Amino acid sequence: MRICSIASGSSGNCIYVGTESTHVLVDVGISGKKVEEGLNAIDMTSRDMDGILITHEHSDHMKGLGVLARKYGLPIYATRGTIEAICRMSSVGKLPEGIFREIQEDIPFQIKDMVIKPFQIPHDAAQPVGYRLEHENKSIGIATDLGKYDEYIVGKLQNLDALLLEANHDIRMLQVGSYPYYLKQRILGDKGHLSNENAGRLLCRLLHDHLKAVLLGHLSKENNYEELAYETVCQEVTLGDNPYQSKDFKIQVAKRNCVSDLVTV
Ligand SMILES: [Zn+2]
Ligand SMILES: [Zn+2]
Repeated sequence: MRICSIASGSSGNCIYVGTESTHVLVDVGISGKKVEEGLNAIDMTSRDMDGILITHEHSDHMKGLGVLARKYGLPIYATRGTIEAICRMSSVGKLPEGIFREIQEDIPFQIKDMVIKPFQIPHDAAQPVGYRLEHENKSIGIATDLGKYDEYIVGKLQNLDALLLEANHDIRMLQVGSYPYYLKQRILGDKGHLSNENAGRLLCRLLHDHLKAVLLGHLSKENNYEELAYETVCQEVTLGDNPYQSKDFKIQVAKRNCVSDLVTV
């Protein structure tokens, strides 16, 4: 299996996950043109995709959805709440008839040789989910846009080979930053976003000998920066109550505007 972050951050998210024969995008929060450029960088094209998985309806996850769906007719997988929210949004434009495939939390589904397991995430959207994608004995997890984590989420992300995890903000930067009060409260809330510290603590619960790669993503432009997210998460791992040091794992930051390494597991 392979994973590549095409874009990651509050300004737009798009992730490619594939096997030899199945290729999907998780979210398309960037323009159709940027999706195509990103896929080209890993020798793929939008035409090769078998579907689009949407986590939730916020614009940083679906800005390019309308264009991509119309141009390539790619099926869109999303929960009922997310589908209804997308259909209410005028910015998406008209979507082809029958393009949605309704999915449900905790009910696995299949796209060709890939098994996909959606799980609930606490976030201020209609019916948001994260995804665990599996092929043969490999699995990749994607968890962004979550205000907090609990035992349910920890359970869904056990024994992964690769993980894309939100490290949205530094709490102090957010607190002293320029965002209005209500927005700070929203981001810090249980249905907001995961801080660097909490990302590190969640990661500590997911570590095992065969976790090959960790991509930190969905960094806030205003309230975080790459080195800080990386250092904070590494520190939690090294100082945390586990047998590991951060250098035991390949941890990297998924960049806002450029394609990450293509990670193969
Ligand atoms: Zn969101
Ligand atoms: Zn988001």
